[in-house]
Amino acid sequence: MSAGVHTLDLNFQGTPGVIAVSVFDTGDGLAVVDPGPGSTLATLKAGLNALGAGLADVRHVLLTHIHFDHAGAAGTLLTQVPAARAYVHERGAAHLTRPERLVASATQIYGDQMDRLWGAMTPVAPDRLLPLSGGETLRLGNRDVQVHYTPGHAVHHVSYHAGDDLFLGDVGGIRLDADQTPRAPTPPPDINLSAWRDSLDRLEQLPARTLHLTHFGAYPNTPAHWAGLRTTMTVDAQRILTGLDAGQDPEALTAAFTGDLMRDLHAEHPDLPARYEFACPPWMSVQGLIRYWRREAARGEQR
Ligand SMILES: [Zn+2]
Repeated sequence: MSAGVHTLDLNFQGTPGVIAVSVFDTGDGLAVVDPGPGSTLATLKAGLNALGAGLADVRHVLLTHIHFDHAGAAGTLLTQVPAARAYVHERGAAHLTRPERLVASATQIYGDQMDRLWGAMTPVAPDRLLPLSGGETLRLGNRDVQVHYTPGHAVHHVSYHAGDDLFLGDVGGIRLDADQTPRAPTPPPDINLSAWRDSLDRLEQLPARTLHLTHFGAYPNTPAHWAGLRTTMTVDAQRILTGLDAGQDPEALTAAFTGDLMRDLHAEHPDLPARYEFACPPWMSVQGLIRYWRREAARGEQR
């Protein structure tokens, strides 16, 4: 495999440009950032083959967080590659070693679509999992990888910084195309916008040239990326708050939010709305934001 970071397209649900996996050589096997859902492990394997490598070459599975579209394949991958190990924030570790609760709560949301969307979630053996708290430098082969704790999208989210490359998972937003302003994916249960903004402030200071987003791909590190994400995050959150204040129910909120979002995206590129639905269903962002604002209101009353 050539030097540098490779972006593999998992063709999630037959759609290109929705879920990306970053791969780089460490000199001691491959590092894979967020292997994706279990349903696309064969596509990951084929992508590695196309680079002249294979699943058996993977040694380091760097997880930004435990959501299915990022970490679902980790357990199966580790079972198939005995020499590999995975890295995850300590607050996400138990969900990987005992995924039953995670699967049960996702099944409530996805029902009989679970398997088609995400595939199996095999538990990760605890002795194959290295829990992180942020602040570590991992020495992987001949590469130093800095771990940054970056909550906001999830309370257990980390980002990885290796040389010129910054691997952001979901905290750097969803940006499916260079023309698209990044947007914050805000699913339940634990989004926290003020923690998220703090994470963005710290990430923006890091000396990286390239930003790697799971949804989707690599972009030059520019001030416009971070500024755009901050702006749309505020706009999206405010749309929900305004609706809640007007007494709208979740269905009305979802319809209005989806309409506004799709109009914004379509204005940036006509292809964006359809792909965005796969990367981050708007109804899920609405549920997360409703929950966030209700929690904030409850906190305010306690003060
Ligand atoms: Zn996520």
